[in-house]
Amino acid sequence: MTRTGPRGKVFLVGAGPGSPDLLTLRALGLIQSADVLVYDRLVAPEILELAPAGVTRISVGKSTGRHSVDQAEISRMLVTLAGKNRSVVRLKGGDPFVFGRGSEEALALARAGVPFEVVPGVTAATACSAYAGIPLTHRGVSRGFRVVTGHLLENGELDLHWQALADPECTLVVYMGLATLPAIAARLVAAGMPESLPAAAVENGTTRRQRVVRGPLGELPALVAARGLESPTLVIIGHSVAIGDAIQWFPQEELEHDPSHPLLARVGL
Ligand code: SAH
Repeated sequence: MTRTGPRGKVFLVGAGPGSPDLLTLRALGLIQSADVLVYDRLVAPEILELAPAGVTRISVGKSTGRHSVDQAEISRMLVTLAGKNRSVVRLKGGDPFVFGRGSEEALALARAGVPFEVVPGVTAATACSAYAGIPLTHRGVSRGFRVVTGHLLENGELDLHWQALADPECTLVVYMGLATLPAIAARLVAAGMPESLPAAAVENGTTRRQRVVRGPLGELPALVAARGLESPTLVIIGHSVAIGDAIQWFPQEELEHDPSHPLLARVGL
C-alpha cells in the first residue's frame, strides 16, 4: 500500500435511526467539521442540516438495498474524494456495519491505502425496539436476539437458515423485510415458530412519523399490508413484543395490538 500524495481521511459514520438526538457526539463533531458529506437516502434531512452551509453534499441515494449509485462506484468515489479533501464523512443510516455495507467500503479504502475511521451508530434494531417499548431481551421471556435481512438474493431467494431462526425464545429482528414479510412469516411458521407468536412492524422508528403494527406472526403480513406500511420498516418477532403493551412510552400511532396476550401474566403485568 503506497501513498501517492497527501490524503484526507474517510469517516464511515453511523447516523442513527432518524432522530438527530440519537447521533453520537463523535458523529455530530465530524458532520460539523466535514469538507464533504456522502450520504444515503435513509439519513434524515434534519441530520444533514447540522453540517455547515458550504459543505459539499453528495447523495448516493441508497435505500433498502436499491442503489441509485453502484456500490463499487461509491467506494471509488470515496477513494477519489479522500485524495482531494481533508475530511470525507460517509454518513449511513443506523450503524455502518449492520446491513450498511460499511465493511465493503472499509475494505476498498484499506486496499487503496486511504486512512479511515468507523463511527458506530444506533442501529434500527435497538432504536425501533426501544421507541416501540419492545425489549429485545427480557429475563424469562427472551434469551437473546438475532438480526437478519429479508432482502432477496439476486436469484430471488431469501438467504436465511429457517430452522435456526425459528426459536421462539430468541427475538428475531428483520431488516429490509417489508416486501418479503409474507414469505418470511410463512417460512418461519413452517419451520416451527407458532403462528400466535407476538410480532410487530415499526415504520419510521424514533421519528415523529413512527407507526407500529402489532399482531400474531401469522396475521402480521395481512395487518401490515392493510395499514400500508412503507420503508423503512423493521420487523420484530418474539414473546417480548407482548411486553410493549405495558411499557409503551413514545407517542405514536398504534395500529393494532393484543392486550390479552397470556405472556403479560407471566411477567407479572
Ligand atoms: N445500517 C442500518 C440498516 C440499513 S438497512 C442500521 O444499522 O439501522 C435498511 C433497513 O433498516 C430498512 O429497510 C429498515 O428495515 C431498517 N431501518 C433503518 N432505519 C429504520 C427506522 N428508522 N425505522 C424502521 N426501520 C428502519
